[in-house]
Amino acid sequence: MSPKVYIAGKLYDKADAKVSVYDHGLLYGDGVFEGIRSYSGRVFRLEEHVDRLFDSAVAIHLQIPMSREDMARAIVDTLAANKLTDAYIRVVVTRGAGSLGLDPRKTSDPQVIIITDAISLYPEELYEHGLKIITAATIRSHPNTVNPRVKSLNYLNNILAKMEGTKAGCLEALMLNHKGEVAECTGDNIFVVRKGAIHTPSVDSGILEGITRGAVIELARDAGYTVIERTMDRYDVYTADECFLTGTAAELIPVVECDDRPLGSGQPGPIFRDLRERFRRLVHEGPAS
Ligand code: PMP
Repeated sequence: MSPKVYIAGKLYDKADAKVSVYDHGLLYGDGVFEGIRSYSGRVFRLEEHVDRLFDSAVAIHLQIPMSREDMARAIVDTLAANKLTDAYIRVVVTRGAGSLGLDPRKTSDPQVIIITDAISLYPEELYEHGLKIITAATIRSHPNTVNPRVKSLNYLNNILAKMEGTKAGCLEALMLNHKGEVAECTGDNIFVVRKGAIHTPSVDSGILEGITRGAVIELARDAGYTVIERTMDRYDVYTADECFLTGTAAELIPVVECDDRPLGSGQPGPIFRDLRERFRRLVHEGPAS
């Protein structure tokens, strides 16, 4: 069966799923998106993802042409139409087709697109042995440009940082904010463990407020760990006992080296392993949203 893609209320075969070349999503990266997972047929934290999508849209002054409830239903229905139970779901809302000029008033029909696909994770061995990362020279966008809390279609900063990582032989790269503080990685949030406590950059460090990040903070606190959201710099990463990243696609993945320095024992640590196990239980057995 050909995968079915939802566009503006209809399902299309993958090959026929198209939007206009005049769409400002394509011309200017003008739009917002979400990356969501389903596990065993249940969409993980659907309401939170839909809320973040609508908040991103509000921030860029984009009116999504459907309600939150209808969006949630369209996501679940698209998944069902594709007979997928464990999937990665990409929701995109573009500004719509317009004229060749920046002005969004000259666009019409924002396009809501829902793609469901198999998930592509990091290779399993990296969950066992850990990732190496470098710090990218490209910084996360300044909160007074496109705020990093907005999951916009304009990911060029992060793409440039990712390319720096790839060039250095790393699958992820650490991004600092405009003040030189640790923000996050190109597609994942970052956590470190120091003396048994878990630290992660606060939202005002200029990060995407990751939904996996939120779930991990809750899980860790419920398990009795101290979690501190604060300003961090690279010293905190270099001298960490453990380090790991979180994201919808990655889930929790350990980091064992940053900028050529081994972190802690140079192996994934016990708190990472404990939280990864708890996260697995949550997504497979916990409440659906
Ligand atoms: N930071 C960035 C820049 C991201 O793009 C993502 C999502 N891929 C994350 C963090 C993780 O967020 P979430 O847990 O909601 O997927």
